[in-house]
Amino acid sequence: MASSYHPRLLHGDVSPSPSSEELLQWKSGITADPYRSYLYSYPHKTAYRDLEPPLPLNELWRDEPAESFFLYMHIPFCGARCGFCNLFTLPDKRADVHARYVDALERQARQWAPFTAHKPYARFAIGGGTPTLLAPDQLRRLFYIATDIMGLATDKVSISVETSPETLTVEKLEILKDANVDRVSMGIQSFVASESAAIYRPQDPDVVYRALELLGRYDFPILNLDLIYGLPGQTVETWLYSLNQTLSYNPGEIFIYPLYTREHTIVKPGDLERQEDIRLQCYNAARELLERHGYRQYSMRRFAKETAESHKPLLDYSCQEEGMVGLGCGARSYTRGVHYASRYGVSRKATESIIADYVAAERYDTADYGIVLEPEEQKRRFILKAILHSEGLKLSQYTERFGTLLWSDFPELALLTDSGFGLVEDDVLRLTGEALGYSDSIGDWFISSSIRERMERFVLP
Ligand code: SF4
Repeated sequence: MASSYHPRLLHGDVSPSPSSEELLQWKSGITADPYRSYLYSYPHKTAYRDLEPPLPLNELWRDEPAESFFLYMHIPFCGARCGFCNLFTLPDKRADVHARYVDALERQARQWAPFTAHKPYARFAIGGGTPTLLAPDQLRRLFYIATDIMGLATDKVSISVETSPETLTVEKLEILKDANVDRVSMGIQSFVASESAAIYRPQDPDVVYRALELLGRYDFPILNLDLIYGLPGQTVETWLYSLNQTLSYNPGEIFIYPLYTREHTIVKPGDLERQEDIRLQCYNAARELLERHGYRQYSMRRFAKETAESHKPLLDYSCQEEGMVGLGCGARSYTRGVHYASRYGVSRKATESIIADYVAAERYDTADYGIVLEPEEQKRRFILKAILHSEGLKLSQYTERFGTLLWSDFPELALLTDSGFGLVEDDVLRLTGEALGYSDSIGDWFISSSIRERMERFVLP
């Protein structure tokens, strides 16, 4: 039988219980603005700065304690920039630009391979951008770089590739199949043409249907489809229409994203002021529909069938995403103590110049831009990565890793249980399904003041 407790009962000395008024105030702070900041990773990339002096990568990776690594390749090119996108990508379809980029990626891989060769890879992902925008020979080359240069064993590693409806062809799918790819992820965002057009992603639904039909023929172990809610002109009904269209293809996994806009994205926050914010309604409607169709909720954004998994015997890889080896411009790399990447930009001018520097470089053997994680930040990252997923945070694992008690280190976390947003059961702190919908505001609340300060001082080039 599951055993549950309230942290204040076990550790009555950690902090006085808040009054019901304080609790109400805290909770309404979380629920009033659920979409204030998407904490894709902690610390956020806008907290990165020049590392002075640059850190030699051979030393950084030699001391990395993760048992296995995650290899990620970033392809920072798309056909056009979507109206909501703040990822590191450049709208550029020129094959010669892509070829020079892959040349640089191969140079980088040759220099990095010896640094990480002492541990096996458990996961491999190619993301972007739109990796399948590359011509077939360049796409094939990415797998050659992964296997022949980085030493990836494709029969033991789960392999995921991002794609888009208009770039999928039989030839490219054959390449993915030959490369033993387990998971193909496709961004659809909406099945309603006017909604796609409103986010500067003109998309003919017929092209989407054709791509889905093609993907169905190749039967990858995991098909993931991405959708966005809160689009201009969208209603809860049209959102459910897109979800139902998605469900008719029976994907193993569905990611649902609330629409985020910023001053530097093409669609600005002001553009949406006149329409009602239906994101929370859409989220709740999606949860209900997806659960009814046999999908389990793993996080605010990820829903999957329990059967959606690689068919290979995989090595364990920590969900804390340490030991992430990020090749390519815009890719982030995570060791336990240092996160690093190339510089970040969104505007055409900035991304173009950052990619040009990457392509012109001869040496890739130091980390010169990123952040050194103090022990407190390592703890915060560990906590956030766990509690914003349905599996939750195993308290004994926290103590094993850091040698301290969660409730003593962060007594404020008891607010989660005080408020009913979380519960502790069988040594695990986890959020309720309702609270997972507030992951972004809970994540934002838990950012340390020093990281927040760095993020606020960041100026986009
Ligand atoms: S959302 Fe995806 S497809 Fe659209 S511009 Fe960004 S990376 Fe490219």
